[in-house]
Amino acid sequence: MTRFVFAFEEGSADQKDLLGGKGANLSEMTRMDFPVPPGFTITTEACHAYLAEENNFPKGLLEEVQKSIADLEQKTGKQFGDEENPLLVSVRSGAKVSMPGMMDTVLNLGMNDAAEKGLAEKTGNAIFAADSHRRFIQMFSNVVLGIDHHLFEEAIQKKKKEREVTEDTDLATEDFQDLIKTFRAIAEKETGEIFPTKAMDQLTAAIGAVFGSWNAPRAITYRNIHRIPHNLGTAVNIQSMVFGNTGGTGGTGVAFTRDPSTGERKFFGDFLMNAQGEDVVAGIRTPREIAELQDELPEAFAQLMDLQNKLEQHFREMQDIEFTIENKKLFLLQTRSGKRTAAAAVRIVVEMVSEGLITKEEALLRIEAGSLDTMLHPSLDPQADKNLLAKGIAASPGAASGKAVFTADDAVTLTEKGEKVVLVRHETSPDDIHGMHVSEGIVTACGGKASHAAVVARGMGTPCVSGISKIIVNAKHKKFHVGDTTIEEGEIITIDGSTGELFLGAVSTVPAELSSEFETLLSWADEVRTLEVRANADTPNDAKKARSFGAEGIGLCRTEHMFFEHDRIPLVRKMILSQSQEEIDEALENLLPFQRKDFENILTAMDGLPVTIRFLDPPLHEFLPQKNAEIEDLASRFNISFEEVKNRVVHLSEVNPMLGHRGCRLLITIPALLEMQARAVAEAAILVMKQGKTPKPEIMIPLIGSSSELKYCREVIEKTIDTVCEEQGTSLDIPIGTMIELPRSCAVAGRIVEHADFFSFGTNDLTQMTFGFSRDDVGRFLPEYLRDGILGRDPFECIDEAGVGRLITMGIEGGREKKPDLKISVCGEHGGDPQSVDFFHRNGMTVISCSPFRVPIARLAAAQAAIRNK
Ligand code: PEP
Ligand code: MG
Repeated sequence: MTRFVFAFEEGSADQKDLLGGKGANLSEMTRMDFPVPPGFTITTEACHAYLAEENNFPKGLLEEVQKSIADLEQKTGKQFGDEENPLLVSVRSGAKVSMPGMMDTVLNLGMNDAAEKGLAEKTGNAIFAADSHRRFIQMFSNVVLGIDHHLFEEAIQKKKKEREVTEDTDLATEDFQDLIKTFRAIAEKETGEIFPTKAMDQLTAAIGAVFGSWNAPRAITYRNIHRIPHNLGTAVNIQSMVFGNTGGTGGTGVAFTRDPSTGERKFFGDFLMNAQGEDVVAGIRTPREIAELQDELPEAFAQLMDLQNKLEQHFREMQDIEFTIENKKLFLLQTRSGKRTAAAAVRIVVEMVSEGLITKEEALLRIEAGSLDTMLHPSLDPQADKNLLAKGIAASPGAASGKAVFTADDAVTLTEKGEKVVLVRHETSPDDIHGMHVSEGIVTACGGKASHAAVVARGMGTPCVSGISKIIVNAKHKKFHVGDTTIEEGEIITIDGSTGELFLGAVSTVPAELSSEFETLLSWADEVRTLEVRANADTPNDAKKARSFGAEGIGLCRTEHMFFEHDRIPLVRKMILSQSQEEIDEALENLLPFQRKDFENILTAMDGLPVTIRFLDPPLHEFLPQKNAEIEDLASRFNISFEEVKNRVVHLSEVNPMLGHRGCRLLITIPALLEMQARAVAEAAILVMKQGKTPKPEIMIPLIGSSSELKYCREVIEKTIDTVCEEQGTSLDIPIGTMIELPRSCAVAGRIVEHADFFSFGTNDLTQMTFGFSRDDVGRFLPEYLRDGILGRDPFECIDEAGVGRLITMGIEGGREKKPDLKISVCGEHGGDPQSVDFFHRNGMTVISCSPFRVPIARLAAAQAAIRNK
């Protein structure tokens, strides 16, 4: 028969699938003889069985739990539900992957009037017993019975007001006893049932609630955001309680073996004296820095320092540790690999390599390539004028500006309207996850670095300032106050998550400065990757940026973007709308100098590196004049009537421009355009050469579907280049290649390659044409497809291996069959997506090209692909 329950001493760290991350690591620490209160874990298999059987416990589970409780009673010498020496336990969820704040904890389970009395007598501490009792009812009611926690918070506030005190810890035993009655009454009113007082009834209900919470909407949202599979299920950990709230000799805290914001090797965290479990994370009291614990409880602090170091050495990973000190004695309640910012992650792995803790390959594999994005984005300009409102805790780095909003739902509503928002809350809870996800930044009045807001924001890469005690948030009336200043919903605020500052108004930003660890990590990536990484860039500025991020060339320079500039667009329109060769030639003659200058600048910026220049590929409608003023301007340039121009526009309008007169079709029907672009490339290259530089242009034709199209274009281009070379008495070697972005071009790649020096897969169009999903309209239905699981990921973001990927493989095979050394690139958006990069590596591509900001991501992803597929 399947066993569903394992005592901590029976498991180990490698059993995360079965015991969840928390359970497996509690087992590991128990085996290492660390001070872990005894307990047991109910497996994820039990969770599967419970959910599969429509929320019924699988056969035998409750008997196993009862037996494990009996074992626990033996180990602790206490009795579950006892009047004299009661055993109290915590019940905590723990999935394989840590999901902070997603699953809920119940502490002090087993508590009732008799147990409170027993605990009070045993410890000689009546207030502690009463406080523990009210906490239990509060947590159990919220987590297990699903009652809004505000109802309880309001009752506490009322009591404090009545007593004229500000802190929970200032309340007296009788106050807590009053609160216990009030709390029970609230629970019974809300549920219409008697509050359970038998320990085993409480435990059964709590286990069921933990299992059930796996499918709570906020848990599903978190898994969707972080792409955690929905079929893992959660384990349940039941552990005998230790108490940090028995008075001045105890406390509780959360700490990291290194700073999770910067990565600095420094023990880092928060603690609260005379507090229990969730107090630190919940952000209800603002905690103290861990270093101060040394003054309060020096022996426990010294032991904690020793153990945290041992844990990091053992797991070879930065640890996030929860501890409680009961009457000066330290207990560890959890250890797991700590969530961190991207910058911290990079610094930690680079330093761990130099400490000899991990290898370079491990370092490269540990960084989620996509996360580097957050390190490349701007920070606040130190020179800018700023209107500082208040300062809190620097909880998640980065700068963010946006309209202040006060509820998660409002954050979603406003962002759907295209607004940028900063979410301001008294404290955040897992229910806010959807709003946090869409916000530019997060502000809370309460909570420290380990608060829900801080942990979740760091995980998302969203800037966050927590614990700004000076602000008073009034979510109901959608405003907050700082002293005499009131900020209403919709007013712009700015935060600096690296300094903890909150400003009124927008603040200008400066580009990110990259750390030396970042450069080191990427240099290691360059040593192992085999894919060449280039950038998609159309301007010298973008080209320079791409070069500074390590691009080895430009894989796609889209020339149409150059034509959209205000001084050129009338000329382009004129060319398109022309009806005689003279008109066309005149327009192109005027465009040539612009185009030549563009190429000269970009070839100069990329001196010595290849630049793939893609010839004009606009769906025609993008260039046609729409407004009357534009038509009037053209009419005067043509010297013909407004109506005539309008007629020509109507004549050229297409029902389906994306499938229409674009790409090579345009170049073939207007060969003078093809000639002009080829001439501009050749003349620019010669100009740059004359400056003593080494230009390396490559010409690429878009939207080729048949070999004869490419043959035609190639002949025109070659002839033009030859003419220019003859005119200037020089020679040029400019490779001519094609984009592969139509399903047909994949099928006939073997023929197309005869006229191509290289291929570059345009996976944007290839995805569009393969799925038949319009790139521009897919937003109408894709969100629902993703929500309902009809598609796993957006195919425009991550390559669809089964369909589009198969065509790519076919195209590569076709090309390489004739030309085994054919250089093959990808220049669609997928070139910067780590998962897609792995596919491109496995399929023998030569080059990946992506937007400049994604170049570092692509470098790392290419290295990871090389290591994984060794
Ligand atoms: C593509 O289609 O993937 C591509 C790179 O070209 P564009 O995005 O310009 O159509
Ligand atoms: Mg394309």
